[in-house]
Amino acid sequence: MFKDAQDVLKQYFGYDEFRDGQGEIISNVLSGRNTAGIMPTGGGKSICYQVPAMLLDGVTLVISPLISLMKDQVDSLIFQGIPATYINSTLSASEVEERMEELALGEYKLLYIAPERLESSYFIKFLDSLNIPLVAVDEAHCLSQWGHDFRPSYLRINDAVNQLSSYPVILALTATATPQVQIDILNHLHIPAENKVLTGFQRTNLFFNVLKGEDRKHWVGQYVQRNSQQSGIIYCATRKEVENVHGYLVKKGMSAGKYHGGLSDSLRLQQQEAFLSDSVMVMVATNAFGMGINKSNVRYVLHYQIPKNMEAYYQEAGRAGRDGMESECILLFSPQDIQTQRYIIEQNVMNPDLHRNELQKLRDMVDFVHTESCLQNYILSYFGEEADAECGHCSNCLDDRETEDVTVKAQMVLSCMIRMNERFGTSLISGVLTGSKGKKIVDFGFDKLTTYGLLKGESQKEVGLFIDYLIAEGIIDVEGGSFPILKVSSKGKEVLLGERKVSRKKQVNPAPV
Ligand code: ADP
Repeated sequence: MFKDAQDVLKQYFGYDEFRDGQGEIISNVLSGRNTAGIMPTGGGKSICYQVPAMLLDGVTLVISPLISLMKDQVDSLIFQGIPATYINSTLSASEVEERMEELALGEYKLLYIAPERLESSYFIKFLDSLNIPLVAVDEAHCLSQWGHDFRPSYLRINDAVNQLSSYPVILALTATATPQVQIDILNHLHIPAENKVLTGFQRTNLFFNVLKGEDRKHWVGQYVQRNSQQSGIIYCATRKEVENVHGYLVKKGMSAGKYHGGLSDSLRLQQQEAFLSDSVMVMVATNAFGMGINKSNVRYVLHYQIPKNMEAYYQEAGRAGRDGMESECILLFSPQDIQTQRYIIEQNVMNPDLHRNELQKLRDMVDFVHTESCLQNYILSYFGEEADAECGHCSNCLDDRETEDVTVKAQMVLSCMIRMNERFGTSLISGVLTGSKGKKIVDFGFDKLTTYGLLKGESQKEVGLFIDYLIAEGIIDVEGGSFPILKVSSKGKEVLLGERKVSRKKQVNPAPV
C-alpha cells in the first residue's frame, strides 16, 4: 500500500520522498485510522490528504475555513492532473448545482467546502449519497475555543461525519495547536492519542531576535534599505500603523507594498501579486496578509509591534525561510504595544472565559519578549514540544553578556509582594520597592512595610523590567483580567526559601523603554 502512496507522490507532485510526518500520517489514514497531524506551516500538510485521496475510492472531503484560497488550491490540483472542485459561497446556485451533479457522477477525487456548509441538512444528505472515504479537517485548531481562531461551525463536523454511511476516516491537520488545543481536537473528532503525529516545530533556519528600545521606524528603514534585494514582510498590529510604516518606507524611496483589511479587494490582490512576483520587495501588512501565501524566498519577517499571541507570532514569523535558507525573524518590542493588543481583546472578546484566555495568551507572548533563555526553545515548549538543545543563533543564545546572581533581589521583590498580600500589579509593587511616595502607597500604609524602599537606587521602570523578567522565568504568576495581580509561583516560593537561585544577564545599560 505504501509503495502506491510513493508512486502517487512522484507521479502527481513530482517529489521523491515523504517529509517528516507525512509518511506516518498517510499510512495511518490508508489503514483506516482517525489521525491528527500537527506540523509547522510549510511542513506539507496538504499532501497528507491529497495522496490518500488519489488512492481511495470515492471523493475526499476537505473542510477548510479559507474560502478565498479554495479556488487557487483547486486550480493548482487540476493543473497537476488531480480532479478537484470546491463548493462555497462564492458560487452561484446554478454553479453549485452543476458541481453537485458532477460529484454524483464521480468526476472528482477531492471536494473542498467551508464548515458552514455542514449546517445544511440538505447538503449532508447529498454528501451521504457520495462515497466519502476520508474527511480532512484543515486548520483543525478552529474547533477549539482555546485556539486562536475559534469557528463555532467546526463543532458540527463530528455530527455531520457521523451521518455519513460511508464511515469516513478523519484526518485533522493544523500548524498551531497548544497542548490544550490538541486535546480538544482529539476529543472532538474521536482521534486516539496514539494517532497524533506531531512533527518537529523547530525551524533551524530561522534566526529569532527580540529588540527592545529601538527607534523603530528609523531602525526598520535602515534594515529594509540594507536588505533591499531581499524579500520580507513587516507585520503591524493595526491598519493605521501599516499606513504609517508603509508611507515612511515609500517616502524614503523603497520598494514597499501594503496589505490590510481596509483596502479594496482589487488593491489587495494587486499588492499581493506584486509581492509574489518580486516587483515589490517588502510587504507591510496586518495579520490579514499571509494565510496560504506560499512564497518560499521570504528572507525576513519583522514584527513592528508585538502580536496578540504566540500562535499568531509563530505562524507569521514562520513565513520566512520556507525554502530552508537562513532567514531572520525580528520582533521590535515597545511596552505600549501591549496596551494596543489588550484594547483589541477588550473590543472583540466578550465571553469572560475566552477573554481571560486571550489575556493569558498575550502574557505568554510578552514573556517571550522578556525571557533570556533560547527563543526557539521558548516557542517549542509553548507548543508542548521538548527541545534537545539551545538553537545557538537567536538573540538570547548570542547574548554574551555576563550572568549575575540576582537571587537576593528576586527575594526582595517576592517578599514585598507577600507583605502586600499578593493583591497588586507591577506598578504598585515597583513603587513600594523604590520608595515612591505615591498617594495609593501612602493611603494603603505601604510606606510602613519593611520592604518599602529596598530598591531605592533603581528607577521604577527598571524594577518593572526586573519583575517582567521574573514573570517570564515563571517565578511570578500573573492572575486576573484587565487589572493583573502578581502572585508568587511555586518556583518563586523555592526562591524565597533559598532552594532556587535566580540569575540574569548583567544589565549594562538599563534597557530604554
Ligand atoms: P502546509 O499546508 O503544511 O503549510 P503545504 O501543504 O502548502 O504546507 O506544503 C508546503 C510546500 O511544501 C508546498 O510547496 C509543497 O508542494 C511542498 N511539499 C510538500 N510535501 C513535500 C515533499 N514530500 N517533498 C518536497 N516538497 C514537499
